[in-house]
Formats: sequence, C-alpha cells, structure tokens
Amino acid sequence: MKLPYAEPFRIKMVEEIRRSTRQEREEWIRNADYNLFNLKSSQVFIDLLTDSGTGAMSDKQWAAVMTGDESYAGSASFEKLKQSVEQITGYKYLLPTHQGRAAENVLFTVLVKDGDIVPGNSHFDTTKGHIEMRKAHAVDCTVDEAFDIEDPFQFKGNIDLDKLEEVYKSHPKEKIPFCLITVTCNTSGGQPVSLENIKAVRELSDRYGIPVYFDGARFAENAYFIQQRENGQREKSIKEICREMFGYGNGMTMSSKKDGLVNIGGFVATNDEEVFRKASNVTIIFEGFITYGGMAGRDMAALAQGLDESTEESYLEYRISQIEYLGNKMIEYGIPIQKPIGGHAVFIDALSFLPNVKREEFPAQTLAIELYKEAGIRGVEIGTLLADRDPETREERYPKLELVRLAIPRRTYTNNHMEYIAAAVKNVFDRRNEITKGYEIVWEADLMRHFTVKLKEARS
Ligand SMILES: *Cc1c(COP(=O)(O)O)cnc(C)c1O
Repeated sequence: MKLPYAEPFRIKMVEEIRRSTRQEREEWIRNADYNLFNLKSSQVFIDLLTDSGTGAMSDKQWAAVMTGDESYAGSASFEKLKQSVEQITGYKYLLPTHQGRAAENVLFTVLVKDGDIVPGNSHFDTTKGHIEMRKAHAVDCTVDEAFDIEDPFQFKGNIDLDKLEEVYKSHPKEKIPFCLITVTCNTSGGQPVSLENIKAVRELSDRYGIPVYFDGARFAENAYFIQQRENGQREKSIKEICREMFGYGNGMTMSSKKDGLVNIGGFVATNDEEVFRKASNVTIIFEGFITYGGMAGRDMAALAQGLDESTEESYLEYRISQIEYLGNKMIEYGIPIQKPIGGHAVFIDALSFLPNVKREEFPAQTLAIELYKEAGIRGVEIGTLLADRDPETREERYPKLELVRLAIPRRTYTNNHMEYIAAAVKNVFDRRNEITKGYEIVWEADLMRHFTVKLKEARS
C-alpha cells in the first residue's frame, strides 16, 4: 500500500493548551464583545486566527539563535542571512526590516508617488494600505476564476494578462512604478501563481518598460504548488523553482513571519542597485542600520536557517498535505469550502453554511463565534466586517464572499488537531438550521474596524 505522508520531524518540546467548557467560552466571548481578537490566548484551545509568526522553530533554528551576532554594523548573522536570501532568490541586495509591512514602507517610500497606479493580484491589506496612504491606487488584476469558490482552476492567484495590459495601456509608464505579484495570493485564499503566468507578466511588463516586484510572504508554498501542479516542473527542486520564479522579478518584499519560519521579521531584496541605495536611507530612518534594520542578530540567524528549511520538499509536502487533510475531511462532511484547497488555510463559505442569518447580521462572524463556542477554536472573519464601510458614503460594502478563514500555523498542530477541528465544524454544520440570528454592531472604529469592533446578539 502507498505510504501516507508523515510529519518530517518529531517533537522535542511541548506547550500545554487547555480545553474549556462551553459555559466558560460563552462568558468569555460575551465579555470580548463577540470579537475574537479580544480573547486571551488562554481562552482559546486551537488558535487558527493567523499563520503569521505563529509557527514553531526547529532545533537548528534555536541553535542558530545562540550564535546570533549582535554587532550594530557588519554582523555575521546579517552576512548569513544575505547569503541565504541570495541563494534562494538570486537577489544580491538585502535590507532587513522588523516585519513585512515595514518592508513595504521602505520599498514604497522609494517607488510609489501620489497618483501612481500599482497593478497586481489582490494586494494584501497592509500592501494596499501602504499604496493608498501615498494617494496611489492598487488595481486588482486577478483572474476571474479566483472569485468563484467552486471553480477547480489550479492557479487562482494568476494575473489576468488582458486586465494588466489594459492598465499599462491606459496610464503613462511614469505613473506605474511596478507590477506586484503576491505569492501565494492570500486574499484570494492562499491560491498559487503559475510559473508560466509569472513569466508572461514579466514579458508583458518588459514591453511596457515596467518593473515587476514580488510580495513573497508565502513564496515556498507557491513554489511547491508549481512543482506539483504545473506541466514540466515535477523534476525540478523547490530551490530551483524559487530561483527561476524570482528571476522574473526586480526584487521583493517579505514577511518572514510566514515562509521564513520565524516569529518576527521581514526584508526587502533586489538586484536594482539604485533602488537599494535609496531604500537604504529609508531603512536607516524607519528601521535601523542597514545590516540589521529592526531585527536582532539572533533573529536574522534563525531566519537564515528558516528560509533553508521552508524550501525543503519534505517540509512543504507535510505543510501542504496537512491543509489538504483538513480540507478533505470537511469536504467529506459536506461542508462548503473554497476549492482547490489553498496553501495556508481552509476557507469556509459562510453564506451557504448559514443561509438563515441575514447579510446585515454578519454570517461569517456568526459562524466564527459558533465555532469558538462549540470547541474553543479561533478562526477569523473574511467578510463584511473586514470589508468595512465605503469611506465616502459610510454604507456597508458587502463583498462577494463571506468566509471564515482557518489559518494553520506551521509545524504547530498535529493531524489529531485537524480531526478535532473538522469534527467541531461538522457539529455546527449539523445544527446550522437552528442558527438564525447574527450580530449587531454596538461600536466601531472609523478605520480597520474588525480589530476592535464591539458586537451584541441581534434581536430579530
Ligand atoms: C502578512 C503579509 C504581509 C505583511 O507582513 P507583516 O509581517 O504582517 O507586516 C504582506 N503581504 C502578505 C501577502 C502577507 O501575508
């Protein structure tokens, strides 16, 4: 019989997590104003809020921590990190930052001006924030397949070349500082971008003289999907695919909290010397000197090792298989989830899951709360609360989809936890027809309301 995959590690240290009673959870979530961000981590049994900075480091990474060189300038840990980044991406200039959004700040301060247009595939929210705060515009050129959760298309992170060319044709070159490819595309559900698409974006952009940058947060997961799904890529190693992928770009921003396999950190990497020179000044002002930029030497040492581990086949097979394992269990139970299953999370379609909850009463948030009450699992709403009101009319903006994202931290939970999660979702699903009431807003902030919103049970 074919052997199933198994975790390519064993566990040397454990962290206790505690189950609670339904009664405790009902009280905790009420006291948290029905906002899962307000819960204490001790009130959560399985935490699927995010896969960002929540993973487990290896023994080799912890050993690297002890070798960290904390010199202000010219640290040996920086040299190690620079070597590791160059080996994987081919980019020779490196600026460490304290996390991904700081890398965006550094790069965009140099490249993005008032009135600019930045096309890409569903920009991440902080990315969009950094573009819009400079009075520039992010234009989403993702393929249409991405917005149909039943469409089995294998590369839903791809950029639609016609949409991109339309942007290139309708604005002068000086207004388009670069095209941004996010790998994998988080916003469309951890969906990959194919190598063929990346190459085509490069060729099209070359014709219009426009640089291409990557948001590389989940680049290793993207490379694994390319290896597994794309014609002619099976024989290549992940590291070879990464080199080719990044070879089509001028540089990248990185949130090391994802595929860096560390708990904090980020960087800008590029082969453009002029961009590097200008970005160095920005780094010094906002982050720190250019050989540490907001990271401790020990964190850079752990990241250098983490990048090497996250681009190993055995790690990625485990990583992607675990998400698939959870997703397939849910499909088996008849639960409506986004397909194909993405790279770092499973997304539940709350509109078909809870048909009796009105759109105005936040079905995805309602489902996330039910799942917490059922089993102490914390997911996150990707729906109307997150979409927020229109900044001018203050009307609610209803997105196409109401999703609950269950993000899986790296190397943190076992497949028994996946079984537990799937069973909990099924229990809620079995009583979905009894769930008819959602939530109302009691208080909300003017911007990014989902983090701090206060809710109460709807009266209807
Ligand atoms: C997390 C993330 C960022 C921002 O990085 P932080 O480390 O959270 O600041 C940017 N882009 C993508 C795609 C991300 O997932």
